[in-house]
Amino acid sequence: MTKHNFGAGPCILPKEVLKLASESIINFNEIDLSILEISHRSQDFINVIEKAKKLVIDLLNVPNNYSILFLQGGASLQFFMSALNLLKKDQTAGYINTGSWSKKALLEAKKIGNVEIIASSEEKGFSFIPRNINISDKISYVHFTSNNTIYGTQFHSYPKRSKNCFIVSDMSSDIFSKKINISDFDIIYAGAQKNIGPAGTTLVIINNEVLNINSNLPSMLDYSVHVDKSSMFNTPPVFSIYVSMLTLQWLKKMGGINKIEKINDNKSRILYDAIDESNYLKGYANKADRSKMNVTFTIENDNKKKKFDEMCQHKSIVGIKGHRSVGGYRASLYNALEIDSVNVLVDIIKSL
Ligand SMILES: *Cc1c(COP(=O)(O)O)cnc(C)c1O
Repeated sequence: MTKHNFGAGPCILPKEVLKLASESIINFNEIDLSILEISHRSQDFINVIEKAKKLVIDLLNVPNNYSILFLQGGASLQFFMSALNLLKKDQTAGYINTGSWSKKALLEAKKIGNVEIIASSEEKGFSFIPRNINISDKISYVHFTSNNTIYGTQFHSYPKRSKNCFIVSDMSSDIFSKKINISDFDIIYAGAQKNIGPAGTTLVIINNEVLNINSNLPSMLDYSVHVDKSSMFNTPPVFSIYVSMLTLQWLKKMGGINKIEKINDNKSRILYDAIDESNYLKGYANKADRSKMNVTFTIENDNKKKKFDEMCQHKSIVGIKGHRSVGGYRASLYNALEIDSVNVLVDIIKSL
């Protein structure tokens, strides 16, 4: 029976992508070799990585003064790497603390230099996005997490970039879900396993202006080395990049960002409406800051909770349990999750 996969990550991928990916393991591009056993320097793979880059550029309208990288180490390595490359000894970075991932990012940056928490939602359990954030002149860059995967909050407008203040964003869980203006950011990073592909690669989109701010870094942690070597300084995660390319191709074929944004708006709206109309579910996030990717809610009545769990199991809904740090439920509505799956969940909510 088809499973309705609401998992937060690694998460659902389009069925046709999985089919193509599985075929490539036996016979890639009809060359009688597996994608897993060809050289990353072969033309066959160079075509893959170049195509993946081009899809990122096309889908997000990336200007030509930016570079696209496919790295390893996950978003978690980017917490450290972005600070290592950007933060100078005599400067201060401003971090917006909106959840566990933001906090991990700022703790890593503190190992590099001065960090100031310029806004936080921690005192209310990370249930909202801080507003009217004051960015003082001494801040050299601002870091924020665009979508808080665990708490279900999302920035619907972003801190402004200025001549003296760069913007760095962890977009792991909402990249490619909606339109963004790349020129408003200097570094965007995202672990692939939420909305791009399988775990194993991390997409980095970087303004060439911020390369070489700090120099003489360890090669693997130096963005400029990876830009010079076109993400091939060492063996890249070939399969993860290939499947990411297939997912981006799927996204382009289905109508690109404009189309998926409408679909995502619709999916999240019908689920939030069902939550608000029910008398036993309670949304976790402040309404104005609700995430369109991760919908978090709780059920206080134990009897209802038991019935809800049973119904979810009966209807093959998986991955809906909340993160261990917040409890409750979390329905993740990433790009590949079809509206039919949302409707199955909404029908359960309405039936109880
Ligand atoms: C999942 C997630 C991470 C962690 O990503 P890794 O690739 O596992 O390091 C970081 N930030 C956000 C917003 C996430 O959703």
